[in-house]
Order: sequence, then C-alpha cells, then structure tokens
Amino acid sequence: MDQMKVIIADSINEKGISDLEEVAEVLVDTAITPEELVNVIKDFDAIVVRSRTKVTREVIEAAPKLKIIARAGVGVDNVDVQAATERGIMVINAPESTSITVAEHAMGLMLSMARKISIADKSVKEGKWEKSRFMGMELNNKTLGIVGMGRIGSQVVIRAKSFNMDIMVYDPYISEEAAAELGVNVVDLETVLKESDVITIHVPLTPETKHSISHKEFEMMKDTAFIINCARGGIIDEDALYDALSNDKIGGAALDVFENEPPEGSPLLGLDNIVVTPHIGASTAEAQRDAALIVANEIITVFKGGSPKNVLNMPVLDPKTFQIMKPYLELSEKLGSFVVQGAPGNIKELDVTYCGELSEMPKQDILTRTILQGILNPILTEPVNLVNAPSIAHDRGIIITEGKRSESEGYKSIIKMQAKTETGEFSLEGTYVHEPKIIKINGYWVDVKPEGTMMIAKYQDLPGTIGAIGTKLGEHEINIATMQVGRREAGGEAVMVLKVDQNVPQEVIDEVKKLDNVEDAVALDL
Ligand code: NAD
Repeated sequence: MDQMKVIIADSINEKGISDLEEVAEVLVDTAITPEELVNVIKDFDAIVVRSRTKVTREVIEAAPKLKIIARAGVGVDNVDVQAATERGIMVINAPESTSITVAEHAMGLMLSMARKISIADKSVKEGKWEKSRFMGMELNNKTLGIVGMGRIGSQVVIRAKSFNMDIMVYDPYISEEAAAELGVNVVDLETVLKESDVITIHVPLTPETKHSISHKEFEMMKDTAFIINCARGGIIDEDALYDALSNDKIGGAALDVFENEPPEGSPLLGLDNIVVTPHIGASTAEAQRDAALIVANEIITVFKGGSPKNVLNMPVLDPKTFQIMKPYLELSEKLGSFVVQGAPGNIKELDVTYCGELSEMPKQDILTRTILQGILNPILTEPVNLVNAPSIAHDRGIIITEGKRSESEGYKSIIKMQAKTETGEFSLEGTYVHEPKIIKINGYWVDVKPEGTMMIAKYQDLPGTIGAIGTKLGEHEINIATMQVGRREAGGEAVMVLKVDQNVPQEVIDEVKKLDNVEDAVALDL
C-alpha cells in the first residue's frame, strides 16, 4: 500500500506532527493560500486544520484521495461538512480537548468570586488598600451545585472535591452508574438552586436550557449564592441576573459567556458583584496541544483501519440501500426522540426489534444508530451522529439489544422499542405508512403522527378523568388539537395522547399528575 499523506495547513502542536510522521508522509504548510490548497490537495489522504484554513467544497472536490478532515479543536465552521459527507469523507474534531481547561476556568471564577480577587485587584491598582471591604468566603465545606455533568461538569467535580466541597449535581440524563463513579449526589434542579452556595452551569444551550436560570430560579437561591456560567450565553437570562445582582438577591455571578458577545453596553458590566471574562474558558496552550494529539491519534486509527471516536458526519449509504431505509430513518429518529421524552427517567436499557420486511433488510444497525441519535441529540453539546451514537450511548451506560421478527401485525414493517429506566418501563411501536406513525404506546393501540407538541397521560379509565385533564389544560390556556385514548378494558388502565398547540410546561404536568385517577403525565416536543 502507498504511504498515506497528511497535510497540516494550520499550526498545531509539534508532538501531534511527530506522531503523524511515524505513520505517514507529512507536509506542514501553515501559510498555504486557498488557491495553493486547491492545487495540492489531490495528493493527500488527510488534512489537519485549526480555524485559519477553510476546507471549502472547492477544496473537497479537488481531493479524490481525501479520507479525513481533522479540526484540531471543537467548532467546524471552517469545514464544509455537507460537501465532505457527500464524498464519504470523515470530518473529525477533538471536543474533549478543552474539558479540563474549561473546568479550571470555572474553578478560577469560583475563587475569584469567593475571595473577591478581581475587584480587589482593581482597587489596589487604583492606589487603594481596602482590606475590610474584601471579606471573603472559604470554599471548604460549601455546597457546590453542578448543572450538567458531561465532560466539563465531571472535571469540575474532580477539582471541587479537592477543595472539600459538598457536591450535588442536576443532570436528568446521566446514569446512576456515572454519578456513582464520581461519587456525587444527583438531585433535582430545585434542590441545587435552594441548597447550593455556588452553582456552576455546564449544559449545552438548547431550547430546554435557554433562559432556564431566570427570575423564578434566582428567587429560590440563597442570598449569598454565587453562580457561574462558562457554558454558553443565553442559558442564564441576563435581565433576571441583573435584577438578582442589583437587588442582592444572590451574592455574585461570574460569566465567561454572554447572550451577545462582546456584551457591549450590558448593564451587568457596571456591577461590582460580577466577574467577567471574554469567552476564554477554552483558551490554554494545553487545550491546543491536546487537540493536536487527539486528532493525530484519530487519523492514525483510521489509517490503521479502526473507527475514530469523534466523527461529525455520517458515512454514506449506497443509493439503493438509502432509498429503502429513508422512511425508516425518519421514523427511527422520531421514535428515539419520543422514547427519551416519554420514558419515566433515564434510559438504562433499550431493546429494539425490527419486524416484517425490515427484519430482512441489510444494515439495520443504521436504524438503531438513528434511534440513538434521536435519544441523545437533544441532550448533548456535540452533534451525535450515526458513527459516534453507539459509543456515546455506551459511555452513558445505555445497554442496547437488537432483535428481528418476521411477524408485523398486518403492517409491512414495525419497529418495536422497549426502554427500561431506573423507575419503570416504556414501550413504543412505530411504522411508516406514507409518514411515520406511532401505533402502540405501552401496549395500547394508538394512531399518532410523531410531530409537534404533545402530552401523554397514563390513567385509570374512570368517568370524569378525561374531562378533568382537558379542563386542567384549559385553565392554563393550552389548546388541545386532537385526542386519542387507548385501553384494554373499561375501567382499567388507559393511555391518552393529546396533541396540543403549545408545549405543556412542567408546572402544568405536575398539576395533571395530581388529578384523581391520573398515574403519570409527560410532555413531548418532537
Ligand atoms: P457535554 O455534552 O459533554 O455535557 C453536557 C451535559 O449536560 C450532559 O451530561 C447532558 O446530559 C447535560 N444536560 C443536557 N441538557 C440538560 C438539562 N436541561 N439540564 C441538566 N443537564 C443537562 O458538554 P461539555 O463538553 O461538558 O460542555 C458543556 C458546556 O460548556 C457547553 O455549553 C459547551 O458549549 C460549553 N463550552 C464552553 C467553552 C468556553 O469557552 N467557555 C468551551 C467548551 C465548551
């Protein structure tokens, strides 16, 4: 086999380069122009970039041998991922390279607030010596609330332990095993807000987390509480934060990220009880070095025939298989999203059975991967794709089993799913008849198009229960578009699926759950 060739088009750590040189011929040209790149790329199997070099469609189309585009860092705005996917070229990155760096920044912000370091620094430089103004707080024995225990949150846990802090975590998507491994207490958000002396946010910015810390949440916090956001601007509602800080509703805040960056004209910048940094949470030499080492290692893995961990795009199916799979890929993603929102708690085991014609088709694992994508994508920062979905699920402690059945209850094909969580089970069956359809929930026949906002309720089929649920939603001005009920016998357990015109907030779900004869209720947004 010819020797592989790698071009390194932006400056990366030397060790990353020497690792690659052991297995490939490496050209380092960190001043290469876009035109030159288009001319030379035809000879290369891999390209490594940071953010300077743009790997455009033109570059990709001029690269018949290219197998991997590696971004030694996290964001891939400078790579045309779509064009790469179309040509079957993997795009990889190094999302974990910054975790320790960001966790250390969070610790730095915590100390800066607790010991008033940044305002004390400013005061001394202004020629003052205000010792009594800067009475601080020890972190020792204080309660640290971590919201989001992914890559960065976990690193904060490790560091905060050495400060002898009591740690509690809110992350509805982590497994008990992951929490037990780090020895942390997993609690609900309200407990974190009420009991923490310091709260640090490490969740992605999603529709669920946007403004998830707002007026109501600040009200619940201790008057002395400090809050840190080095995740993404917009998770904390900055207007509510300004009110909380200026009315001494909380003790202080530290932000590395803002709703608008730079936060020009933000009234927050005029306050004394806030520490701010210009989105430098990930900026260290070590993070850059690790990014180079990680992508070099991934390229070597691919050259040796292995599977890389951080692939951002999906492998291309051959056109014929893709045509057969397309409707079921759509169904699978919906089923994944439905099951993660409908199941009571974190999914620990997932059993998928492909019935009917699907049981005969090739590449069913792509459907399972798509289901996992639907389950994991709404809760993780990095895009989950067909390549990395199984390993992410494995890291999160989800056990997957796949089965086949020729029988499909009168449909061409059915996908059956059974999810087990810590607190119960949830089952779902779906098919594709002109569009994706859910045909069974927890064993009850329904006919639901999995899209839009919905509410599912489990209840005892007794007179007045359906009406009471409808009235409760009406009280909160939530309009019901359609309703379906499934039951086995009159008076027994039943399932109701409501399509509603807007998302049903958690407070309303809690009220529905308290209604007579209602066993459970859950809101879905598909
Ligand atoms: P991650 O995907 O590894 O972890 C995110 C965690 O949040 C997961 O465990 C997930 O289960 C949890 N989560 C998702 N939705 C939640 C919710 N509604 N409530 C509670 N938990 C929820 O991500 P990561 O790499 O640890 O990154 C965390 C954050 O840090 C992201 O917002 C990322 O963009 C940000 N970040 C900032 C910088 C910086 O420069 N300041 C650098 C890197 C990453």
